[in-house]
Amino acid sequence: MIYIKSVWLENLNIKEFPKFEGDQKTDVLIIGGGIAGILCAYFLNRLGVDYMLVEGQRVGMGITKNTTAELTFQHSLIYDKLTKKFGEILAKQYLEANKSALETYKELCKDIKCDFEEKPAYTYSIHGKEKIESEIKALQKLGYNTEFISQIPFPFKISGAVKFQNQAQFNPLKFISKISENLNIYENTFVRDIQRNTVLTDNNKITAKKIIVATHFPFINTCGLYFLKMYQGRSYVVAVENAPNVDGMYLNEAENGMYFRNYKDLLFIGGGDHRTGKKGGTYNEIREFIKNIILKLEKSILGQLRTV
Ligand SMILES: Cc1cc2nc3c(=O)[nH]c(=O)nc-3n(C[C@H](O)[C@H](O)[C@H](O)COP(=O)(O)OP(=O)(O)OC[C@H]3O[C@@H](n4cnc5c(N)ncnc54)[C@H](O)[C@@H]3O)c2cc1C
Repeated sequence: MIYIKSVWLENLNIKEFPKFEGDQKTDVLIIGGGIAGILCAYFLNRLGVDYMLVEGQRVGMGITKNTTAELTFQHSLIYDKLTKKFGEILAKQYLEANKSALETYKELCKDIKCDFEEKPAYTYSIHGKEKIESEIKALQKLGYNTEFISQIPFPFKISGAVKFQNQAQFNPLKFISKISENLNIYENTFVRDIQRNTVLTDNNKITAKKIIVATHFPFINTCGLYFLKMYQGRSYVVAVENAPNVDGMYLNEAENGMYFRNYKDLLFIGGGDHRTGKKGGTYNEIREFIKNIILKLEKSILGQLRTV
C-alpha cells in the first residue's frame, strides 16, 4: 500500500493558536510560522522583545512538514565552490555561521523530546574523486579537517565521500510543537499586503517597527525582486519500513543525486528533483532506485513504502 503523507505528522498534536482579530501595533511582526519564523519568534521572546507571529494556515504545515530534517553544515560540495567564487574569508564566515547554528540546535534540543540524534553526514560522488578531494582541501584551508571515505554502506560503488562528524537529525514537528507552545502566535491569519510599516490581513491591520517575512517564498514582489531570481523546485522522498540502519546521512553530490537517512525503523530515500512544471524524476525514479539498488541492501526491507 502506498499513501502520501508526512511521517512527522504521525501521533502529533500541535497546539492550535487563535486567529488574529482587531488592529494592533507591535515592535516586530513575523509573517510565516515555519521553522524559520518560529525560531525568530522564539529568540525574540527570549530577549524580551515585543513581537507577534502570524501564520496563514497552521504552524509547521508549510515546507517544514516535508523536510528530511538533517541539521548539518555540510551542504553538498559547497566549500570549494564558495572559496573559489567569494574567497576564503566569506567561505569561512559561511562555515562558522552554520557551525554555530548546529551548536544552537544541539543546545535547544537538549530539553526537547524531538528524536534528536547526532549522526555523521556524508556527501559522496559516483564519478568525481577529484571533486571530493578538492572539497576536503578547501575545508582544510578553512580550518575544518574532514575524512576521505572510499565506501559507504550501500550496494553501489562510489569514487569517494567527504565525512562530517557530529552532525544531527531530528523530528522537526516535535521540535516546533514544543518550542512554539508559549509564543505569541496567530494562525489562519493570511497576510495579503505590506504597505510601508502596515501589514494587511483579510479584515485587519498590524503596524510594526520591523517586519520579518519568513514565508519561505517571498510573497512581496517589489523588495529585492526575488521572483526574478528564484524558482520553485520539487524533490520526492519515500520512507522504506523495516529498513537497515545506515548510521548516517548521505547525499550524492550530482545535480539529480539521491539522499538517505534513517528515522526509527524507516529509511528515507530522497531524489527525483526537478524544477516545478518541468519534466523530472518524480517518485518513479526513487521506486526504480529502490528496486534496483536498495532492495539489495537487505531483503527484509520489502515492507510498505510510504511517502514523507
Ligand atoms: C524534501 C525536502 C527535504 C529537505 N531536507 C532538508 C534538510 O535535511 N535539512 C534542512 O535544513 N532543510 C531541508 N529542506 C529545506 C527545509 O525544509 C526548508 O528550508 C524549511 O523547512 C523552510 O522553512 P520556512 O520556515 O522557511 O518555510 P515554511 O515551512 O514553508 O514556512 C513558511 C510559512 O509561511 C506561511 N505563509 C506563506 N505565505 C504567507 C502569508 N502571506 N501570510 C501568512 N503566512 C504565510 C506558510 O503557510 C508556511 O507555514 C528540505 C526541503 C524539502 C522539500
